[in-house]
Amino acid sequence: MRCAGKMAAVMRVRPSGAKRTTPPLRWALVAWLTAGSGVALLVGCGSADADPTATWSTSSSDATTPASPTDTAASLPAASPSATAPASPSASTTPTSPAAQGSKYKYVFPVVGHNSYARTHHDYPASDIIAACGLKIRAVTNGVVLEVNRVDKFDPDNPKGADKGGLFVSILGDDGVRYYGSHMSQVTASIEAGVRVTVGQQIGKVGTTGNSGACHLHFGISPPCMKTGDWWTRRGAVYPWSYLDSWKAGGTKSPVAAVASWKSKNGCPTNAPS
Ligand SMILES: [Zn+2]
Repeated sequence: MRCAGKMAAVMRVRPSGAKRTTPPLRWALVAWLTAGSGVALLVGCGSADADPTATWSTSSSDATTPASPTDTAASLPAASPSATAPASPSASTTPTSPAAQGSKYKYVFPVVGHNSYARTHHDYPASDIIAACGLKIRAVTNGVVLEVNRVDKFDPDNPKGADKGGLFVSILGDDGVRYYGSHMSQVTASIEAGVRVTVGQQIGKVGTTGNSGACHLHFGISPPCMKTGDWWTRRGAVYPWSYLDSWKAGGTKSPVAAVASWKSKNGCPTNAPS
């Protein structure tokens, strides 16, 4: 396959061999079908106890870049069976365009470069932003760093919830919302707990550390709750995709209200789920 080398660099799929004692990761399937060749890439953010509900399938009209998923989010819903969005939204034709949904806070999309994401996630709300390892990850809004992890402690033979994110950063936005990005290949040197970050500032690079089988950024939105250590809330409480749509289109739709609503219903769980 002429693009095998490039694909191999992107995939870095974690071995699922006999040594694994827990159920293997089950990955969503991303397939780019080009005119002359079929290329399939297994990616996702695995869960040991739930099948991913998202399946991405995009077709690219650019046969020269089969390894780069389209970054036109509007083309994805057709491949998302459980999507709640209209079947074929478009930034230019959707009644309320993402760019038009604004707030007083500034926001930017967390990944710079080609990427794609679905309207679903596996067993809890979050977004897996599929992107090549090494791409820039940036602070989505102004805020202060809450937590940083620079060491990948994840053991597939003894998977712990606290370790599944691999290298990660969480930020408390000035909007009062916590933003979490994980599976990074690198956390930027200056990013430490307590450090103030500016919207758009680089915080790391896309990777596949932790419970991950391919390069992507797991992105979670939650109330700050315990601020540190509460991975079960930090990983994601409300679905990010509608905000990602807005930020990608240059809008500033804010998750403040959705996060406040979630907290009013759920409080702040103080114990990890069993
Ligand atoms: Zn994920």
